[in-house]
Amino acid sequence: SETLSAERIEKALNSAYEKYRNLNEGANADYIPALAEVDSNLYGIALVTADGRVFTAGDVKSEVSIQSISKVYTMALVMDQQGPGALLENMGVDATGQVFNSIVAIEQYKGAEMNPLVNAGAIATTGMVQGKNADAIWQRILEKYEAFAGRKLSVLEDVYESEAATNQRNQAIAALMHAYGHIDEHYLRATDIYTRQCSVGVNARDLGIMAATLASAGKNPVTGKQVVEADNVPEILAVMATAGLYDDAGKWLYKTGLPAKSGVGGGIVAVSPGKFGIAVISPPLDAAGNSVRAQKAIADISNALGGNPYEIH
Ligand code: GLU
Repeated sequence: SETLSAERIEKALNSAYEKYRNLNEGANADYIPALAEVDSNLYGIALVTADGRVFTAGDVKSEVSIQSISKVYTMALVMDQQGPGALLENMGVDATGQVFNSIVAIEQYKGAEMNPLVNAGAIATTGMVQGKNADAIWQRILEKYEAFAGRKLSVLEDVYESEAATNQRNQAIAALMHAYGHIDEHYLRATDIYTRQCSVGVNARDLGIMAATLASAGKNPVTGKQVVEADNVPEILAVMATAGLYDDAGKWLYKTGLPAKSGVGGGIVAVSPGKFGIAVISPPLDAAGNSVRAQKAIADISNALGGNPYEIH
């Protein structure tokens, strides 16, 4: 396949950036109070090719909390520690057809037949990370994210405190997952570490590199480091494809063919395997919880660059 030229990539990025810059749709998430305070105009795009070239448009320096995008990378860590069977056997890899923090979805199959990218499955996944205590577990998670991003990262403490004070629903989800045997007795510890992982600050460039690492068989194309076993990447992308964009995962896949993950902080990462990773940050979300500008910009850019893996050129 031909290499994407810098000129073609820059043109696609700049045109999507300009096209949606003044779009005023959606609203910041506000069920976590600190997220309502984030600047709604923040808008940045980063595309990183599988051969390590970085292209950006807009604000790629300002950080937002990674939120649910973190679930992908904790999943990668657990797969590396315990193999691909562990998640399949614990919470499963099926879309729930319910909202991301559904309690009905837990009840339906007693915490099975779901996946690591919805809250119940994600908190259980965090509960599976091996380490001798909470600090050791947290360090492993943060180091994994840093290896994917290629730089040191830190928690946005105001977001962490705001969510920790209001995450009773996630605590209830964790308790239920413990009752059904999917998380051990340290389920509140797992919820707290999960809340912390969701509060890690990232900019659009970080997320672009994190996406590109999944586009290049788990090797960070900027640092050259293998950060997740290549064998585990297809399974991660499969769950992103079926459950990455909340209730609109099907619509998204229909339009773009791209495995992707969104977060309520306003970020979306998407992966065109072997070609590029792309990320957009823009906090206003639609009714399904996905960033309005990010969905539109990523779809346009990927379509302009032949990113859909189901399309043969
Ligand atoms: N920390 C958020 C929660 O558990 C993440 C939600 C998301 O980004 O989907 O509610």
